[in-house]
Amino acid sequence: MSLLEKDPNAPEAWLGEMPITSRYTAGLAGEKFLRAIKDEGKILGSYCDHCGITYVPARQFCERCMDKLDETVDVGTEGEVHTFTLLFEDLDGTPREEPEIVAFISLGDGGLVHRLDEVELDDLDIGMPVQAVFKSKGEREGSILDIKYFKPVSS
Ligand SMILES: [Zn+2]
Repeated sequence: MSLLEKDPNAPEAWLGEMPITSRYTAGLAGEKFLRAIKDEGKILGSYCDHCGITYVPARQFCERCMDKLDETVDVGTEGEVHTFTLLFEDLDGTPREEPEIVAFISLGDGGLVHRLDEVELDDLDIGMPVQAVFKSKGEREGSILDIKYFKPVSS
C-alpha cells in the first residue's frame, strides 16, 4: 500500500526508543503529597481559606485566587467514582483478558485518576464509594502507584 492509499486519520503506533533522560520533580506540594502516601498511607489536599476549596492532590497555589496554600489537610482514603472507563487493550494494543477499569475518584474538591479493582462490572457506577488500597509500607516508593488501586468501600 502506498502512502497515498493509507487513511490519514487511521490511528497508528510506532514502536521504538528515544534516547532521552529526564528527571521529574513533583514540586513542594507534590512532594508532601507523595511522602504522605509513602510514609503514612494518607492522601493530602491543600485547603484555600479564601476560596473554601480543598485541592486534591495537594498543590502550592490556589488556581482561583493565587494565594499560597500552606495548609495541607488529610482528605481520608475514601472517595467516590466520578467517572470511569474500561480498557480492553494494553498499551501495545494487545487485547486484555479482562478489561481494566480506570476512574476519576473524587476526593475533597478534586481527585485522582487511578485504577479500580475488586469490583464487578455490573456493580460499577457513578457515585460508588471507593477506598484506596495501598502497597505494604515496605513496598512503597513515593509514587502515586503506592496506591495499588481503589476498591468499593467494604461495609
Ligand atoms: Zn483561593
